[in-house]
Amino acid sequence: SCCAPSYFRVALLGAAGVGKSALIRQFMTSEYKGTFDIATPDAEDPETTVSVLLDGEESMIEFVDEPNENELDNVRADAFAVVFSLADVASYTTAISIVRHLRVDLCSDRAIVLVGNKVDLARQRRVSSRDARLIAMKYDCKYEETSAALNHRVDELLVGILSQIRLKLAPP
Ligand code: GDP
Ligand code: MG
Repeated sequence: SCCAPSYFRVALLGAAGVGKSALIRQFMTSEYKGTFDIATPDAEDPETTVSVLLDGEESMIEFVDEPNENELDNVRADAFAVVFSLADVASYTTAISIVRHLRVDLCSDRAIVLVGNKVDLARQRRVSSRDARLIAMKYDCKYEETSAALNHRVDELLVGILSQIRLKLAPP
């Protein structure tokens, strides 16, 4: 391609232990990985930027792993992935209040994807897909269920985030 890829920042938010860092690690090995060269990271500084090729167009996405609470109100991000564990109701409650804070208090119109992670823990599931989907609809979010542990639907989440960002930039 003739042009430099567009560059987006995505903040991962949510309670501790829900799998945010695990998801970012899996994003780095995506099937959709493009060809754009990224500087090789050193061992101290884990890779957080990935090139994604979608619909013939390459984009660079940098993931910001849990910006701290008081930073949230002015975090420089083009989109948010708000993650909870499907096996942990408290993390779901936290995710809902983060989404509400972004949409209602901060009036953000940026892309938000609500992510129910740990779908592999089927017998420990405490949050239904229907419930989470309704909350996502209420706050104009996309909803995805993933397993970072099994790398299940993590590519779909990555592509979903990028599609939402592009939609917000150029509505159909
Ligand atoms: P973070 O605090 O949100 O960054 O969560 P981590 O990525 O550090 O993950 C917390 C714990 O949950 C670790 O022990 C992970 O191995 C585990 N974990 C993350 N994702 C999954 C998942 O999809 N399924 C299961 N069963 N465990 C997961
Ligand atoms: Mg982490």
